[in-house]
This record gives sequence, structure tokens and C-alpha cells, in this order.
Amino acid sequence: MIPKFTMKKLLTISILLTGVAVIFFAVGIYYYIKTVETRSEVIGLVLDLEKETILIRAEVATRKKEQARQEAARQAALAAQTSNSRSDRRTSANAVVFTFDDGPYRDYQPGATIEHTESILDILKAENIKATFFVLGSQFDPEEAGQGGTFQCYQEWLKRMVAEGHTVAVHDYRHVAYRKQSRTELDHSINYTRRRIREVTGQPAASYVRSPGGLLSQETADYLKEKKYPHVYWHLNGELFDDDSNDYLGHLKEAIEEGGRGIILMHDRNASGYLPGLIDFLKEKDIPIISLEKWAATYSLPDTPLEPHTGQF
Ligand SMILES: [Zn+2]
Repeated sequence: MIPKFTMKKLLTISILLTGVAVIFFAVGIYYYIKTVETRSEVIGLVLDLEKETILIRAEVATRKKEQARQEAARQAALAAQTSNSRSDRRTSANAVVFTFDDGPYRDYQPGATIEHTESILDILKAENIKATFFVLGSQFDPEEAGQGGTFQCYQEWLKRMVAEGHTVAVHDYRHVAYRKQSRTELDHSINYTRRRIREVTGQPAASYVRSPGGLLSQETADYLKEKKYPHVYWHLNGELFDDDSNDYLGHLKEAIEEGGRGIILMHDRNASGYLPGLIDFLKEKDIPIISLEKWAATYSLPDTPLEPHTGQF
């Protein structure tokens, strides 16, 4: 027989234990629910984040596509400007000017040799044509003698250009687009090259300049204007066409046939091949080949396309 008070005690303990169990159970349930909620919240957040990431990715892709489209449009506009497309840079003047870039030639560009410059000078002399050469200072600078120590022969060609009545003007010292140079760099490049031209030929360089690639930034255009170095863009590009046929003469003839006149951009390495054919064609058409000075005094120089500055300033 269990004593009564013990029964009471046991009952109390059982009730207490049940109470504790219920509390634990309730707390367990509470935390379980809490965890599930948190988990679903986390899952919800992850899903949102993923959605957001997908949206951002799509936005970036769209933006990139738009940038690519704009770049393609810009390039196309540029190509149209610099090609022989008939719609722009037309001039009513019935004359052309021969300009040759990058000389005095030897190996600045693949396939070019000093013979190309020699051949150009021979052809011009035989036809009594005065042209303009936009030269690179580094090609005839004794400071660059490390390039094979052959600067003397380039100096001879430079002297010959001046002696035969051609215009020697600055392209650049090392063929860097003006818009990629700082004002200080450009100032140094142009003036150093001008000084070298004077030293070698005994004659001052012409004040005309032409940026490699032809384009200017607003800043470089302002600099040239301030320094009174007229920038010489071109009306006809003898060598840049929309196809890869390299039929320079064919394209030039076609452009001239359709009314193209004015300043023609050429390079010795290619022009030495097509120059005689071009001269014959111009004679046939009765189109005079005049000097850049005469052109500038009679007509205006073509506008230079402006591109954003991509260098340091
Ligand atoms: Zn050039």
C-alpha cells in the first residue's frame, strides 16, 4: 500500500513533468515554425536576388549591345567620311593636290622601301609636279640612329624633296594620332620635327600638319589653330576603300570620274605603283595637279572630322 502523501507527491511530480514537457513541446513547435519561416524568407530572398541578378545581367547585355551598335554606327560614319563616298567632302574646284604620308620611306610600314620614295620623286620630277610630303621626324633624326644607323639616306631624300620644290610638312615624330597625345607631347613632337627638317634641309618646314589617321580631337584642333598649324585633311583617300581589292588606280579613277577633286591622300609604297596611271588619267581629263599652297590660297582646306580625345587630356 502506497502512503497517501506519497501518492500526492507522485501526482504533483507527474503534473509538473507533464507541464514541463508541454512547455518544451510548445517551445519546440515555436522554434520549428520560426525556423521554417526564416528558411522560407531566406529562400525568398535568394530567389529575389537571383531574379535581380538575371535582370541586371539582361540590362548589362542590352547596354553592351547598344554600345556595340553605337560603336558600329560611329565606325560606319567614320568609314564613310574617310572613304571615297561621293556624298561628302566634295569640292567644286577642278584641280587636285598630291600629298604623301609617312616618308621619307623605308621600312616604317611593311612592304615599304626607300626605293618607293625615290620612285615617287622621279615620277614627280619627270612630270614637273609639286607635291606635299607629310614626313615622320623619327625617319631622319640622327637621335634614332639606333634604327640601323641609316638616317643619312633618309636625310638625302628629305633634302631632295626640298631641292625639287616639294612641300615638306610635319606628319608626326613617330606616327601617333594627335588626339592620343597630350598638348605637351604634341607640341614637342611637331616642333622637334620642324626643327629637324630645318636642320637637315636648311629650309623651314611648311606650317601645314596632318595627324596620323587624319582625325583630331577638339583639344588638338584648338591647339593647332592657336599655333597656326593648318591641319590638312583630304578630299580623296587614294588607298582606303570599302573593299579589299587594292585596285587603288581603279577606285581613284572612278572617284574622279564621278566628280571627285581636291587633296588626295597617298602613301609612297602604294602610289609608286599607280602614280603614272593616275597622272595619265588626270591629263586625259584635263585636271591640273597643283601645289598645296596654291590650293590653300585659292580654295579652302577640307574640314577635319573630330573624334573624342583618347589620350591623357
Ligand atoms: Zn601616316
